[in-house]
Amino acid sequence: MDLQPFHTGVSPYQAGLTCRCPRCGRGRLFSGFLKVAPSCENCGLDYSFDDSGDGPVVFIILAAGSLVVGLALWVELTWQPPLWVHALLWTPLVLISTLGLLRPLKATLIALQYAKRAQEGRLDKGEA
Ligand SMILES: [Zn+2]
Repeated sequence: MDLQPFHTGVSPYQAGLTCRCPRCGRGRLFSGFLKVAPSCENCGLDYSFDDSGDGPVVFIILAAGSLVVGLALWVELTWQPPLWVHALLWTPLVLISTLGLLRPLKATLIALQYAKRAQEGRLDKGEA
C-alpha cells in the first residue's frame, strides 16, 4: 500500500476536529457515525490507508476515565451525595465525553496518519 501524493497546508488537527479530508480539508471523512468514506468527495483521496484501529478508543478511555473518576471522587469526598446523584451526574458525562470525542479523535488520528505517512512496517525485498 502506498499513500497517495502528499499535500499539506491542511493542519491534521484542524482536519481531525472538523472530521474533514486530511489532504484538502473540505471533503467529509465519514460516511456514517464512525464509518470512514471510501474516498474524499472533493479531491478524491482514497481513504483506504485508514488504519486508526483501537487508537481513538484507548485515548478516550484514558482521558474520560480519568476525568469522570477524578470528578466522582472529588464530589464524593466533598459532599457525600446519595448514589442517585452520582448516577445522574456521571452517566451523561460519560456518554458525552466518550461519544462526543470519538469521531474527532478518530479523524485526528487518521489525519495524523496521512500527514506523517504512517503505515505498516515492511522489509525491502533483497535486504532480508
Ligand atoms: Zn479531500
